[in-house]
Amino acid sequence: MKEKYDVIVAGGGPAGVAAAVAASRSGCNTLLIEQEAYFGGMATLASVPAFGPFTNGEQDLIGGIGREILEELKKDGYKSPFYDRKPDRIEGIDWYPIDPEHLKRVMDDLVTDSGCDVLFHTIPIPSIFMRQCLMRAQKMRNYIKIPSTGTVNAMGFHIAV
Ligand SMILES: Cc1cc2nc3c(=O)[nH]c(=O)nc-3n(C[C@H](O)[C@H](O)[C@H](O)COP(=O)(O)OP(=O)(O)OC[C@H]3O[C@@H](n4cnc5c(N)ncnc54)[C@H](O)[C@@H]3O)c2cc1C
Repeated sequence: MKEKYDVIVAGGGPAGVAAAVAASRSGCNTLLIEQEAYFGGMATLASVPAFGPFTNGEQDLIGGIGREILEELKKDGYKSPFYDRKPDRIEGIDWYPIDPEHLKRVMDDLVTDSGCDVLFHTIPIPSIFMRQCLMRAQKMRNYIKIPSTGTVNAMGFHIAV
């Protein structure tokens, strides 16, 4: 943990992981906070069954960190029954089935390799988060104040301010 961060991202779903990894790779001191004990958001927390569509059947629609995650999943895919079959093709587009436990590990590695710091079981205090991050560590029931230059709200439908 650092005393101050350039960027604090709240929410470790696909959007938050991508934002934190991009910020960290760009040289920003970055902290990613997540209320659960793992990343993935709806894909791991709520068992959303598939990512997609990655193509329209003719050309790629999704690149960047989303594509990187997919390629990592496919690389290790033979260890998982989820990837034994080809992507589902619905109306000409491809959907990749998600193994939640596998996705957690891929996202863990991605975030850790980027150099980003992480706090699990932590939620921001909404009204203060966007100005200066003041966080509550749920399990320890204590308050941590961590200033940052910028904040990113990636908490899904959670209203932060
Ligand atoms: C029922 C359903 C089915 C879907 N099916 C598909 C599908 O088949 N394929 C597909 O590609 N997409 C599907 N989606 C859409 C997909 O789930 C979303 O587009 C995606 O999850 C959005 O990612 P996100 O990172 O913005 O938010 P989320 O995935 O919601 O992640 C938000 C993260 O923020 C964390 N968080 C929330 N509040 C706080 C807080 N106060 N403090 C700290 N952390 C917090 C959460 O724990 C979570 O990890 C589906 C969605 C739903 C609801």
